[in-house]
Amino acid sequence: MAELKSTSSIAAHNAPRTIRSTRHAIASGETSTAALADSYYATIAAEDPKIHAWLALSRERATAQAHRIDDLAKSGDLANADTLPLAGVPIGIKDVLAMQGAPATAGSKILENYRPPYDATTVAKLAAAGAVLLGKLNCDEFAMGSSNENSAYGPVHNPCALDRVPGGSSGGSAAAVAANMAVATLGTDTGGSIRQPASFCGVVGLLPTYGRVSRYGLIAFASSLDRVGPFTHTVEDAAILLGVLAGPDPMDATSSGAAVPDYAAALQAPVKGLRIGIPDEYFGEGLDPEVRAAVEKTADALRAAGCTLHKVSLPHTRYAVATYYVLATAEASSNLARFDGVRYGLRAEDASTLSAMYRRTRDQGFGKEVKRRILLGTYVLSAGYYDAYYRKAQQVRTLLTRDFLQAFTHVDAILTPTAPTPAFRLGEKTDDPLAMYLADIYTVTANLAGICGISVPCGNSKEGLPIGAQILGKHFDEATVLRVAHAVEQAHRDGQAQR
Ligand code: GLN
Repeated sequence: MAELKSTSSIAAHNAPRTIRSTRHAIASGETSTAALADSYYATIAAEDPKIHAWLALSRERATAQAHRIDDLAKSGDLANADTLPLAGVPIGIKDVLAMQGAPATAGSKILENYRPPYDATTVAKLAAAGAVLLGKLNCDEFAMGSSNENSAYGPVHNPCALDRVPGGSSGGSAAAVAANMAVATLGTDTGGSIRQPASFCGVVGLLPTYGRVSRYGLIAFASSLDRVGPFTHTVEDAAILLGVLAGPDPMDATSSGAAVPDYAAALQAPVKGLRIGIPDEYFGEGLDPEVRAAVEKTADALRAAGCTLHKVSLPHTRYAVATYYVLATAEASSNLARFDGVRYGLRAEDASTLSAMYRRTRDQGFGKEVKRRILLGTYVLSAGYYDAYYRKAQQVRTLLTRDFLQAFTHVDAILTPTAPTPAFRLGEKTDDPLAMYLADIYTVTANLAGICGISVPCGNSKEGLPIGAQILGKHFDEATVLRVAHAVEQAHRDGQAQR
């Protein structure tokens, strides 16, 4: 239990602020943005040596923005709550997103010196909404992993228990929020990388529908699966951030023009009458009994709040991990072909021919897991194997999507565990990539189907480790997912208060 003390000391150091309370404190003059940013940098200096969530700090940019916001606050321009919804809110960015003035390594040696000359659309939107961007967050190399142990810059430690992984690939983003080193952060989710670390670190992590949020400026892993989304302390903060991030972008042809509802307002609607699906396939073998109990308790709480519970079937679930690891690696092998030592980052110096330079750069620059995936992906796309693996996986992807479309004809949202276990120990799965892949069982299907979802804290193990509940929703129905998550959050808080 000694390890858990670190959490309380962190929490005491800097009590969690929400977007609303931060914005209010600044607009009302209770604190200056500059002083608030300083206090977050002080927390980072004190706590991050233990956690290692941050790869780079962008103090100059943060200070310039803080002064701009402080000037607006002084002149009363922030009095209207609709102006700059994120005015002064300190936010961190996963290192796979481009942010002008900071490196973007994607957790890889091959991009060690890469400094993008522009902002990703999501980063630009946060800045335009008044956010103070603190810096860049550690992650698995090219977002490939479930534990953050594949980062070329070293692992992140879970703030709730320092000998445990924070989850991955957005481990730094989840840990930074959990340790109060940021009010919110951006992560990315290709097969669970927002929801699973959120679950392991006891914070909220939102997976928007494919196309809801622009991917421009995201270093691509698997383009048909990648999403950008927020980590926050509360469901309301996730709703506010989605409102800022969502919408069409001329720089991303896959971004959708669908209207962006007022997500924060949608939380006010009661969940009474909503139909919640419970899929048998997500409660089978391999599910930790404490996780099962916490999610079942969550189902009971939703019933008590007036929802109706319904058994649903997602019969192709057992093929999901295999399908995901064929398609994600195929896309990765293609996306990562651009890192060749010519245009960005690392270049091997000792090569006498162009092809030797390519080979040596890629050999020196990529880590073991990334190489494994490039090999797998190249194999499944190669002539002779394409039909057996890649095409077959595409067909199964359609079946997995149909499973959800069918289920959503009679339920409004689906409740599952986010991950089969609470956070595991650092080093526990590093020698067994298959065991690591299999732990993605509950998250990869939503990416394959293109639907939205969220992980929200719903309990704790006996050891005090956080447990997350996952709520999955229809394409572009984040409003319902957020509403249900809000009810889960309230039930969990009430439960904690009673203890
Ligand atoms: N754990 C999954 C993988 O390693 C998902 C990663 C992600 O969502 N970026 O591919």
